[in-house]
Amino acid sequence: MLYTGLNSLRKGRTLRCVLDTPCPEGTGETFASNVEGEIALVPAGRTIMAQGEVRVTVRLECARCLAFHDTELQITVERECSLEQIDDPEAYSESGDDLPPIPILSGDEIDLSELVRQLVIISLPPRSLCRPDCRGLCPQCGADLNEGPCKCEAEEVDPRLAPLKALLEDR
Ligand SMILES: [Zn+2]
Ligand SMILES: [Zn+2]
Repeated sequence: MLYTGLNSLRKGRTLRCVLDTPCPEGTGETFASNVEGEIALVPAGRTIMAQGEVRVTVRLECARCLAFHDTELQITVERECSLEQIDDPEAYSESGDDLPPIPILSGDEIDLSELVRQLVIISLPPRSLCRPDCRGLCPQCGADLNEGPCKCEAEEVDPRLAPLKALLEDR
């Protein structure tokens, strides 16, 4: 995710970066599409504001049935960046309570990979379902209940009804 134009950025000019590249490594996820969209780098005093919209399709595991499914992330970009080197650990030092600016330099080229990596990580849903009414896996036998009821279901008794069942069996 390299872009030229550092000089015009240093002169205070906005730089538009069009994205259509594989997602940077280090998110821990698998992606079914490139990261696409546009990010404008707007000089703002000593920092740079990154603004725009990007989207990427991520392959996630269903929280209930563990099936893989694709989810498109629509990411609004509004993040402070700094003209510091991505591989410089000093560039990541915390500054107060705010999110530290994200470094966007690789040598003398603009590199948006760390920015995009962080944006994707914070946009990942904490829990994702293959479909809203996914029935999940049977906790006893592990069968996928989306494919139909398993054998244990018939014998299962709702725990709230168990005392009633015991009462009926006593008679
Ligand atoms: Zn599912
Ligand atoms: Zn079962």
